[in-house]
Amino acid sequence: AAEYDAGLKKTRHSFREKLNGFLANFRSVDEDFFEDLEDLLIQADVGYNMALKISDALREEVKLQNAKSKADVAQVIVQKMAEIYTTENPITKQQLNDLDPQNLNVILFVGVNGAGKTTTIGKLAARYQAAGKKVLLAAADTFRAGAIEQLQAWGSKIGVETVAKPAGSDPAAVVYEALQIAQEDYDLLLVDTAGRLQNNTNLMKELEKIKRIITRQVATAPQEVLLVIDATTGQNGLVQAKQFQKATQVTGIVLSKLDGSSQGGIVLAINEELHIPVKLVGLGEKVTDLRDFDPQQYATGLFS
Ligand code: GDP
Repeated sequence: AAEYDAGLKKTRHSFREKLNGFLANFRSVDEDFFEDLEDLLIQADVGYNMALKISDALREEVKLQNAKSKADVAQVIVQKMAEIYTTENPITKQQLNDLDPQNLNVILFVGVNGAGKTTTIGKLAARYQAAGKKVLLAAADTFRAGAIEQLQAWGSKIGVETVAKPAGSDPAAVVYEALQIAQEDYDLLLVDTAGRLQNNTNLMKELEKIKRIITRQVATAPQEVLLVIDATTGQNGLVQAKQFQKATQVTGIVLSKLDGSSQGGIVLAINEELHIPVKLVGLGEKVTDLRDFDPQQYATGLFS
């Protein structure tokens, strides 16, 4: 809990600043007040419908508690929001799918360059390895300069093999080769991919080709397709997520860099608008800085 608390410090601060800025002009609790509050919530990324829902709930709560002063109203807002997101309308909690112990499991990572894919793969590989799984990495981002070496560096740091081909190779060929090796005696294959959103059609084709090869070789679809989103990008991350959702069947989101973000509120918008569960969060650059997403701790950390 303390980690979430620390990780959400900037986001909480930013939310508080927005709220304080909003309350600076506070005169009384009237219709204008609630309309402005709705705008504030929309700006804070909670999603449009949720903003209306929250504002309705706050109307009632303010009446119920007979809150009139600025301080009382502020208190009601923060308390009620915590309650909404922890009990009344809790954020979806979903962990990574369990690995199939009988077969090779494949997890595909997608996301734009710099989102944190490679880092997340390194962290997750270390986690599974510590749990006794035999893990292999596939460097199928053959597009971005340095991506292959970066994944290999993570691999050697944590003692996990990486399958790679020269830069510019067909990513599907890398995946094919990695599958051949992984099927011999590995439990898990983690696949890095290139996040070229500029060309959605190509990206879609590339991801489909990779998925087709996986399905053919392993006889099932990838265990997970994890979309890595940089929490510092705010609304932009949401737009990216929508594009990836169009390109492929995303099974979960990894929200990286929550530690450095003042826009951690994006989780609320993802939950409300995309209906893809956030499964993991990145709280730093170290191998141990990966956590299962815990919505309760998240909401308490955000509105405390
Ligand atoms: P990729 O291009 O999607 O593979 O992104 P990288 O894994 O290379 O990450 C881009 C940068 O973000 C690197 O400098 C990482 O160290 C950093 N990074 C990744 N995840 C986190 C995180 O959870 N917290 C922080 N603070 N930095 C991160």
